[in-house]
Amino acid sequence: MQRHLIVQIFLPSFLKICTGADWCYQSQHTCATPCNGPEKWYHANKDCEGRAQSPINIVHRKTLPDERLTPFQFRKYQDSFRGLIKNNGHSVQVNVPHQPYVIGGDLETPYKVVQFHLHWGKNGGPGSEHTIDGEQYPMELHIVHMNEEYSKLEDALKDPIGVAVLGFFYEESLSANRKYDPVVRALQTIMTTGANTTLVSVSLEQLIPPQQNLTNYYRYKGSLTTPGCTESVIWTVFEKPIPLSRDQLRVFSDLQFKDGKPMVGTFRPVQPLNGRVVYRSGGVVVVASTAILMASFTMAMGLSQPN
Ligand SMILES: [Zn+2]
Repeated sequence: MQRHLIVQIFLPSFLKICTGADWCYQSQHTCATPCNGPEKWYHANKDCEGRAQSPINIVHRKTLPDERLTPFQFRKYQDSFRGLIKNNGHSVQVNVPHQPYVIGGDLETPYKVVQFHLHWGKNGGPGSEHTIDGEQYPMELHIVHMNEEYSKLEDALKDPIGVAVLGFFYEESLSANRKYDPVVRALQTIMTTGANTTLVSVSLEQLIPPQQNLTNYYRYKGSLTTPGCTESVIWTVFEKPIPLSRDQLRVFSDLQFKDGKPMVGTFRPVQPLNGRVVYRSGGVVVVASTAILMASFTMAMGLSQPN
């Protein structure tokens, strides 16, 4: 009854504020510029109030090791390409035309890259979408893949495991990461919403940590982190962050939303787990315990180093 009453009181004013408004991030929502903030994304799409939403806070001690989470194999990630980089009003997105793909990591089929985009804070402040033990990193990269059997992302999104997103955190480093120069330079020409340019030759490999540092990751089932919030994503969140200097991180805050305001705080707040389990790769644990086993075996057999 009480709930009914509240709805009746607030609904008319709410409708006045939000009818026809686009979705937006919390950072954009002011009385002067009405838009549907994350709490109201379900108005844009009902799926946004689903029970398997992303991002989430990952509590390391509650994750379960899973030996099926083997290292990924990154195919054609080393190939250079010239992709369209665009300020789409919510983020900066790069289309990847040559379809690199990943296999392994307990994915049933190869998943090919469609695009990548980023989420960030303000001037290098907290801005990642996923958090680890409550810690928010300055930025997060999402490389969006779809099951190889699809040719359109919209078709893959209809399949509960049609999409696989690889998420990478960034951390502030003292020196600039020169491998990011092409991206950072391109940002300066796409400040306004709708602007785009062609990225000079980059490879996905140069944008992520070396493969040997990518054996530790988390895995869970979730959703897109923007409306429609479709729950069709196999999430992989890597532990090893990508280094970028403060100045490099800051350039992202020079981009502008549609209304000309600084594009900052482009992350969705973390969502309830609702009983979902987060798994973690067991790579290092296995290697470490094997090494210990070998060492104790050698010692037990009296075969340790002479002298
Ligand atoms: Zn994203």
